[in-house]
Formats: sequence, structure tokens, C-alpha cells
Amino acid sequence: MIKEEKGREPKRRSTRQRRVVLEVLRSTTSHPTADWIYEQVRKRIPNISLGTVYRNLKLLRDMGEIMELDFGSTYSRFDGNPNPHYHFSCMDCGRVMDVDIPVATELEEKVRCRHGWEVFSHRVEFYGLCAECSRRRLSEEEAPPTSEGQG
Ligand code: ZN
Ligand code: MN
Repeated sequence: MIKEEKGREPKRRSTRQRRVVLEVLRSTTSHPTADWIYEQVRKRIPNISLGTVYRNLKLLRDMGEIMELDFGSTYSRFDGNPNPHYHFSCMDCGRVMDVDIPVATELEEKVRCRHGWEVFSHRVEFYGLCAECSRRRLSEEEAPPTSEGQG
């Protein structure tokens, strides 16, 4: 009986930790980093470590509950939506946003037909300027600093 009690408690704690990590990630559409998730989780579980948050993120990824996004940057971003979808990275503000177009599975068929390879998945990433950054750049071009035109 005592053995059972001992064995149950850590499991219940780790289940709660994993649930809170998942809830925090699903509460945002910003594709946050592990550090950001850690700061949010700490508000609910103050004594949790970054390592535990990281371990739970990897576990949830392996379970297919979340996605880990790697855009070749130094740190990963995480996505609470595990369903296949594309992303857009703004090269000015660094935000990562969901792209609202269907996943082009026909590309995989094209590659299969062309080369005879078995294609399981594909990755497409979009890079550019978000609407706000694009507007800001335009307004900067149209209205250059007044000090330059003087003298
Ligand atoms: Zn931007
Ligand atoms: Mn996403």
C-alpha cells in the first residue's frame, strides 16, 4: 500500500506538469520558445525547472501533441497545433505566423511521379515582411527624416 502511494505521487505531479505545459502552449498562437513557455508555466508551478519544461516539450512532441519548429535559427519554437500547416516568418519583427492555405500534398505526388521516390512529408517555409512591418517600411521611405533635406 505504502509502495503504491509513493509510486503514484510523482506520476500525478509529472502528469500535471505536462498538462500545464500543453495548456500554456495551446493558449497562444505566437509559436513561443521554450524560455517563454517556462516563464508562463512558472506562474502556475513556481518550483518547476527549465529542464523539466524542456523534457515535457520533447515528450509532447514525440506524442504528436505539439510541433517543434526549426527554421534554422539557434533556438526552436513550439506550436500547440500538431496538424500539418505552413508558417510565415517576418524578417523584420521575427514573428512566426500560421499561413491559412491548404497543405499542398499534390507536391508530394509530383515528386513521386518525377523520381519514383516514396514521399512521406514535405516542408515549406515562407519568409518576408508581415503587413505591419511592410507598412512601416513604406512610410519610412515616403517620409524620410526632415533633417536630411535641410541645409
Ligand atoms: Zn513583422
Ligand atoms: Mn503554427
